[in-house]
Amino acid sequence: MKKHNFYAGPSILSEYTIQNTADAILNFADTGLSVLEVSHRSKEFQAVIDEATALVKEILDIPEGFSVLWLGGGASMQFCMLPYNLLARKAAYIDTGTWAANAIKEARLFGEVDVVASSKEAGYTYIPKDFTVPADADYFHYTSNNTIYGTEIRTDPKVPCRLVADMSSDIFSRPIDFSLYDAIYAGAQKNLAPAGVTLVIVRDEALGHVDRPIPTMLDYRTHIKKGSMFNTPPVLPIFSALQTLRYYKQLGGLKELERRDLEKAAVLYGAIDDSKMFTGTVTDPADRSIMNVTFVMTPEYKELEADFVSFCAARGIVGIKGHRSVGGFRASLYNALPLESVKVLVEAMHDFETTH
Ligand SMILES: *Cc1c(COP(=O)(O)O)cnc(C)c1O
Repeated sequence: MKKHNFYAGPSILSEYTIQNTADAILNFADTGLSVLEVSHRSKEFQAVIDEATALVKEILDIPEGFSVLWLGGGASMQFCMLPYNLLARKAAYIDTGTWAANAIKEARLFGEVDVVASSKEAGYTYIPKDFTVPADADYFHYTSNNTIYGTEIRTDPKVPCRLVADMSSDIFSRPIDFSLYDAIYAGAQKNLAPAGVTLVIVRDEALGHVDRPIPTMLDYRTHIKKGSMFNTPPVLPIFSALQTLRYYKQLGGLKELERRDLEKAAVLYGAIDDSKMFTGTVTDPADRSIMNVTFVMTPEYKELEADFVSFCAARGIVGIKGHRSVGGFRASLYNALPLESVKVLVEAMHDFETTH
């Protein structure tokens, strides 16, 4: 049976990415070797990382003065690596979910952290709007998409200091104005590649303003100088990322990806809003994520939630169980998920509702 993959991460990849990765595991670039067993310093792999880097710059429309890095350690490593490199005295953060809170916790190891707003008391069901970012902060950090709670900030904030963002779960879903940013990072396993590599894009000029010694591996300048080859980079995820980037370019880039993502989200939110059985968990519709749609059953039907998950499984729908910390359902609609899968889910919701 065809599977409809709504997992939140690691998550669905395009067939193009998976097929080309499978092919390269058997024979990489006509070397007669697997991509799993070639030197990262071979000219064939150098061509992979060079093209992937160039495509990131092209697709995201990154101006001069930024470096694109392919690092290990996950987005969670960036929670400490970023302040290590950028936080001299004080940074401002907005607390919009578990990942944001984890980033705040790490930043506190490096200096003063001004949490300008938090929606924690409301279970992170909305994005705080009323806050001021202090101009004397070294940077303002935000999480553009709150993967667990289904909220998203889809406009680039204008702040009086440097701007940095964790875009792990919504990068490549909209155009970004990089002139406003000093750094962004994204774990690959949501919208780019298998787990194992983290994309970091940093403004070169933002570096070198902290006095502390930085361990070599955690210093962005090390990786800039060595072209992400200071040590062995995650070769396979980078190869897969290149396939996804080629696929994104062929599709027409960010505008087309955004159009598709908006369409898919509109179909699912429409079904939730029309339903008496299901209800969204995000209080302000303006904050709804187009990547992770979170919903629950209304109190009257609450005890049927587990049944609905099995009902879906019987139709090939996987990965809709909500994060263990919030319960209910979460359907992740990442770039590689076809509209058809959303329609199958909506049909399942409808059929379940009419039979209960
Ligand atoms: C998944 C996720 C992370 C954690 O990524 P790891 O690569 O597992 O460290 C961080 N931030 C956001 C927004 C995420 O969605």
